[in-house]
Amino acid sequence: MADIACINGSFMDLADAVVPIEDRGYQFADGVYEVIVAHGGVPFLLDEHLARLQRSADGIGLGLDCATLGLDDLIRDGIARCGYQDVMIYMQITRGIASREHAYAANMTPNLVMTFKRKPIIAPALRETGIDLETVADTRWVHCSIKSIALLANIMIKNAAKQRGFFDAIILTADYEVLETSCANVFIVSGGTLITPPADTRILHGITRGHLLESARNANIPCEERSISKTELLSADEVFITSSSIDVLPARRVDDQPIGGGKPGPLGKRLLECFPKSAMPANTHGSVTA
Ligand code: PLP
Repeated sequence: MADIACINGSFMDLADAVVPIEDRGYQFADGVYEVIVAHGGVPFLLDEHLARLQRSADGIGLGLDCATLGLDDLIRDGIARCGYQDVMIYMQITRGIASREHAYAANMTPNLVMTFKRKPIIAPALRETGIDLETVADTRWVHCSIKSIALLANIMIKNAAKQRGFFDAIILTADYEVLETSCANVFIVSGGTLITPPADTRILHGITRGHLLESARNANIPCEERSISKTELLSADEVFITSSSIDVLPARRVDDQPIGGGKPGPLGKRLLECFPKSAMPANTHGSVTA
């Protein structure tokens, strides 16, 4: 078992994988990405991730038909080659290599890079106790539904939250409406209804978010996609965040406000059951703080 990479279809050890300095991903963050997990060697919600990758590629004008890249086969091949049961697959497509100039040529050849690593798991204790979140102002760009590799604002938000002792930060609009965290979508439960902000250009349309909503609707849990005020957030019965790497992670506190009496609530726990289990027991993985 080993961490491996794949550059434009060629597999190699992760440590041997290099890309040229003049790749526009390196110089301009000119590219898009996906993170996909596999459990027991099976990629989860792969079609949904590949469809979003195409939307992101279209969103930055890559002029690329992702179907021609054979991504499905490369991903399955990579999972088999790395040998892990539970895999974290990172995939990015940049506009390609060119002399550093802001404007780009129409005929560039995109570069596809993937890495395959063992999927870290959330420490079980963190799921039991719940996480602490803070609220912060939005400092990102206006196309947050594009899964761009330009994540400087997101990493600054996350890092500042960690330095202040929080797991992550919930980003608010100037009107104190909830958007998402630096790297996950946000749900609240209020009076038995599951509520999440609408999938517009101000948030990433999380694949986990979509799966959770679909699972909840199938279970006849009332769901609403609508704006959530900060006041409503702080008085919610439950708050949890979702992403491919964490599934569903409950909050016990937002800013100074305990949520649900300061411990994870029942709906978040129930919805976690809609996700595949790790093939390996928890103590064989590193734990993660996502
Ligand atoms: N929102 C942001 C800003 C993210 O970066 C992510 C995941 O990386 C998500 C939401 C959750 O998306 P997904 O469920 O597709 O992993």
